[in-house]
Amino acid sequence: MQQLDLRTTTEDLKAPVVSRSNVLVVGGGPAGVAAAVTAARSGASVTLLERYSALGGLASGGMVLVLDDMINGQEITVTGIVSEYVERLERIGLAVVPPAGDRHASTDMWNKWGRFGTFDFHTHTTPKPICYAAAFDPDGWKRVSNDLVREAGVNLRLHSWFSRPIVDDGVVKGAICETKSGPQAFMADVVIDTTGDIDVASRAGASYAHDSYLTTLVFRLGGVDTRAAEEFEQENPREARAINRKVKRLLGGAWELWWLKTPIEGVVWCNAPHMTGYDGVDPADMTAAEFAARDHITEAVDYVRENLPGFERAYMVDVAPQMGVRQTRLLQGEYVMTKDDVTTRRHFADTVARGRDYYYPYRSLLPREVDQLLVAGRHYSATPEAQKMSREIPPCMAMGQAVGVAAALAVEQGITVRDVSPLDIQSGMRRHHADPGDIPSQNASIDAKETVGA
Ligand SMILES: Cc1cc2nc3c(=O)[nH]c(=O)nc-3n(C[C@H](O)[C@H](O)[C@H](O)COP(=O)(O)OP(=O)(O)OC[C@H]3O[C@@H](n4cnc5c(N)ncnc54)[C@H](O)[C@@H]3O)c2cc1C
Repeated sequence: MQQLDLRTTTEDLKAPVVSRSNVLVVGGGPAGVAAAVTAARSGASVTLLERYSALGGLASGGMVLVLDDMINGQEITVTGIVSEYVERLERIGLAVVPPAGDRHASTDMWNKWGRFGTFDFHTHTTPKPICYAAAFDPDGWKRVSNDLVREAGVNLRLHSWFSRPIVDDGVVKGAICETKSGPQAFMADVVIDTTGDIDVASRAGASYAHDSYLTTLVFRLGGVDTRAAEEFEQENPREARAINRKVKRLLGGAWELWWLKTPIEGVVWCNAPHMTGYDGVDPADMTAAEFAARDHITEAVDYVRENLPGFERAYMVDVAPQMGVRQTRLLQGEYVMTKDDVTTRRHFADTVARGRDYYYPYRSLLPREVDQLLVAGRHYSATPEAQKMSREIPPCMAMGQAVGVAAALAVEQGITVRDVSPLDIQSGMRRHHADPGDIPSQNASIDAKETVGA
């Protein structure tokens, strides 16, 4: 087997080259699987690397269990591979989606669907409107991911922790992983960073911002009589509010609904505790966060068993194997998305993916300093404020599809990823039944540059 020499200042490391492919995707979360499957379906040979034992990232290991942020009013704006996930999960009974007729604001619909989390959380009315969104099961997500990757012919390596990029004169050529067998090298024409923390891009020399937001160790409870709990809340709103306030205090912070139903009867997921001040890429901070979260969880669960009707027989099903980190390093690439871009729904000539009602330009997926490297997912090029509003699972998958299309086009056309035409990516997205956001919606603002010469 060929040995690759990697000279660093401190060591002379030899790593066997274990694979060569057109496209190497690092990180098997929602964005990474979307990128890998899309590139493979477009005809490229693809290798996908994941540090843990399963695919899915925060959607499985982090037990983040609602797909949202994919509508603009009644229009479904995020399509493509996320729709495939929803259909496949529903088929195996592991996703719940409100039917079209139930997607509106009324007390009845709120009582029926609110506790699944399938509502438009951007609307500040009471009750919030029920919308197209999906409550799903984390193991179901892993199964569907495996099926998609296998069917597309992606060369998958789990248990492979990316440690350093292989860069030659500003061009990324591959990546080294740490494994139980020692370091292994993976070579490729194009590398896609979907690690969530731009592990690859940051080590390859790309500029980035570093911030943090809420950190959450999600957990699930079983044995919950959800009907009794909901009836108690509806019939005794003041008492229920007081109990829930106390739970949230014990948890150290949570959204308004600290527990949500899942497709499995009697099992609820708890998107809490919400902790601040932890750096998601600092092992010392993450160790402290794991301990702090479990302390909060233990106290809160003891309290609800004693005090919240419906939760008397609740037991811990599991605490997420992966800490819920929302934000760490963010690429500062060819274009940096701002909060204003998101809130004014700025549309760009090179838009290649769409979130709820906002648009991602191709430039926000391209580092400035490094070639043949693309990024997609929660670490895309944005300000910390913009990222908080544009990092839900479905839009991350849309970005993943866009870079999967772009990487395959670069390989097919023999050009650099920087030279791929956004128009070609838009057409490619449509071929994959994904909305590239090329047609601005009526409430979009148009980027000034887009109108020049128009
Ligand atoms: C607590 C919490 C609640 C949330 N709630 C919602 C919600 O209700 N709905 C919603 O849509 N979104 C929600 N989000 C946001 C959403 O989960 C994330 O933004 C989304 O999962 C990001 O996807 P990603 O693929 O970019 O990154 P990730 O899901 O983080 O995936 C990154 C992948 O890369 C792998 N990886 C990382 N580093 C390496 C390495 N060095 N080598 C190899 N592999 C590596 C990881 O193991 C992982 O599989 C929530 C997030 C959190 C934390």
